[in-house]
Order: sequence, then structure tokens, then C-alpha cells
Amino acid sequence: MTIEIKNLTKIYGEQKALDNVSLSIGEGEIVGLLGPNGAGKSTMMKIITCFIPPTQGEVKVCGYDIFNEPMKVRSSIGYLPEQNPLYLEMYVREFLTFVAGIHNIDNKVKKERVDMMIEKVGLTKEVNKKIGMLSKGYRQRVGIAQAMIHNPKVLILDEPTTGLDPNQLVEIRELVKQLGQEKTVLLSTHIMQEVEAVCKRVIIINNGRLVADDSIEHLAKGQSLETIFRKITIE
Ligand code: ADP
Repeated sequence: MTIEIKNLTKIYGEQKALDNVSLSIGEGEIVGLLGPNGAGKSTMMKIITCFIPPTQGEVKVCGYDIFNEPMKVRSSIGYLPEQNPLYLEMYVREFLTFVAGIHNIDNKVKKERVDMMIEKVGLTKEVNKKIGMLSKGYRQRVGIAQAMIHNPKVLILDEPTTGLDPNQLVEIRELVKQLGQEKTVLLSTHIMQEVEAVCKRVIIINNGRLVADDSIEHLAKGQSLETIFRKITIE
């Protein structure tokens, strides 16, 4: 299994953000993590990526434990956080070279790797601009490129299409689908159509609890995912 989560609980003060969640994700899957705002999606992603520790439970990524081998976990994962943090004053290539440096990518292959990412995410035409001059869609592409620069096996994307216009939305979804041919992808969203368009499997959490984990076909059984989602998350 590429991601294994057992009995994961996170409590912030009085707030239980995750409540005894267990799941596993195999190599090459593209999984949609769905849930209303405040369900615990970002919390789960921050724990998997070693940004915050859980209160209880076990998480392994590519066989590495988040407590015992956090550096190996981090190098196995490319993470695009919800608020895509970018240096707006930097140029696209300059920023990606900087991130490649953080990952200790060898100087001999750094330029080649940066060029490969620029091409892969469709940034070639924008490469000479400062990040602050880019549209939101292109900034998301920079965010995805920085997440993939060290060639991780797993991509964790926290609401990658929020705030995009309809064309950019389709483009980023296509990009994620394409990346999913080579990587294991966990993508959070609250947009059902996104999951239907990109993922084969859906995990739904509500109030910190796992309420569904199934293939979209099997879960929806001919109904729209939106109908199922409403039923599950209102109950
Ligand atoms: P989602 O990503 O599904 O919107 P989050 O994981 O961001 O949900 O939040 C889950 C719950 O935990 C929410 O009730 C949120 O207010 C709470 N929460 C998230 N981060 C913190 C924090 N740092 N301190 C206290 N409560 C938090």
C-alpha cells in the first residue's frame, strides 16, 4: 500500500477534527477526498505530509512511518497545500530552481528537471514572468510543478481547483488526470463533478469520521454523487 492510515485521530484543543479514521490507498490510484467544509480533509493531508502530528493513530507512506522516518515520507510526497504558498516576486524558473535546491536535487540534473516540470505542467509560455503576474490557473500550475520537482511517488493536492475559472478548471483537472497515470494521487475537494471527472474512488469524511470509501460507480449506483453526498453528510 502507498498510503496506510490506521485509527487516526486529531484533536485541536476541544475540537475533534479526525475521529478514528482508517484507510489505505494503493499504488497508482487517484482518490478523491470529499467532505463539507470543516470535515477534516486538510487536517488529514497535513498529517500525511508530516506538517502536523496526529493525536493518535498510525500513518505510513510508501512504507515509511510519519513518526520514525518523516524525511523519507516527505521525499515520497509532493504536496500542494490549499493556500498554494508561492513567492510572488520570483520568476517561474527561479522559483522552481529554488525549490529543487531545497530538495537537494543534484546541480547537474537540476536545470533538466526544472525544464521538464515547466513543460509537463504547461508553463512554457509563462516561464519568463514573475509568479505575481500569473493568473490563478497558472499559479496552480507552478504549485503543482513545485510539488513534483523531486519526482515523488505520491501527490497530495488540497483543493487544487478552488477559485479557477471554468477553462482553467478543466485544464487543471486534465493535468491531474495525466499525472495520475504515473503517481498515486489524493485530491481533496468539495466539488462532486471534480471527483467524477478525475477519480475512480471516493473517500467521504464528515465531522472527522469516515462515512464512505468506495468506487464512484459502486457508491453512486446510478444516482449522482451529489445526491449520495448530501444523504451521507446530512445524516
Ligand atoms: P476541511 O479541510 O475539511 O475544511 P479542516 O481539516 O480544515 O477541514 O478542519 C477540521 C476541523 O478542525 C474544523 O472544525 C476546523 O475548524 C478545525 N481546525 C482546523 N485547524 C485547526 C487548528 N489549527 N486549531 C483548532 N481547530 C482547527
